[in-house]
Amino acid sequence: MTKLRRASIETELGTELQCTQCKEFWPADGDFFFLSRGIPHSWCKACYQNHPKVAERKRRWVEKQRANRAAAKTDDHPNQRDGA
Ligand SMILES: [Zn+2]
Repeated sequence: MTKLRRASIETELGTELQCTQCKEFWPADGDFFFLSRGIPHSWCKACYQNHPKVAERKRRWVEKQRANRAAAKTDDHPNQRDGA
């Protein structure tokens, strides 16, 4: 067994992993890391692809996650909008 000693941080949207190449933290998600049997690679996709605009992509991803959460909240009680 290899021990995974990946630097990671917890954000409001979940876990972010540090890319060992660019040292940036990215969401532990298939959008940002290639997954090998569900385990993110040590390099982010940006480093594999040398993608210059990946920071913009992350910003959009974060916005999307926030929007999804907001949508999930409002869908939760569609007929109970502060009736009290
Ligand atoms: Zn990277």
